[in-house]
Amino acid sequence: MIRAHTSSPEETKRLAAALAELARPGDLVLLVGDLGAGKTTFAQGFAAGLGINGPVTSPTFTLAREYRGRLLLHHLDVFRLDQISEVLDLGLPELLDSDGVTLIEWGDAIRQTLPSDYLEVALTFVEGANSSPDERTVTLALTGSRWQARSSALATAIRQWTGEPPC
Ligand code: ADP
Ligand code: MG
Repeated sequence: MIRAHTSSPEETKRLAAALAELARPGDLVLLVGDLGAGKTTFAQGFAAGLGINGPVTSPTFTLAREYRGRLLLHHLDVFRLDQISEVLDLGLPELLDSDGVTLIEWGDAIRQTLPSDYLEVALTFVEGANSSPDERTVTLALTGSRWQARSSALATAIRQWTGEPPC
């Protein structure tokens, strides 16, 4: 687990862009967190980090959108999916087999249908009298060898938000 902290949407975007530089074809990233925690904001930064210009909007009503950058980005939101058949209709195995990177908002809801190699990014609000409404904790959990092999590179890429000393 790598725990980071951001204080504005711009910081979350920059953190996501730094992670996107380490993305490889076929990667899967699950975005987890309450409504308004910053999953779409993260996806926007991640897209920018892949060199995608132009707006990246929430796919809540369209389920899936595709963007072309350094890699193809599949951006999905499964919040409204309550039937497994709809999930199957997304053609996830094909997306994950492609040369693109797949980001799934609310991905934890369909965890049992996913491969066992993924980066899970959890965004949480920071409660407390001294914290601003724009503070977020960003926790990265690396599942499977595909991501674990990149753990030190990931930690280095986002060290300005983890409080790690520069190396
Ligand atoms: P979600 O997709 O998780 O529902 P969104 O990214 O759509 O969340 O919305 C997050 C909202 O919170 C945006 O209005 C964003 O500007 C705001 N926000 C404030 N601080 C942060 C932060 N540190 N990181 C991400 N978003 C933030
Ligand atoms: Mg969203």
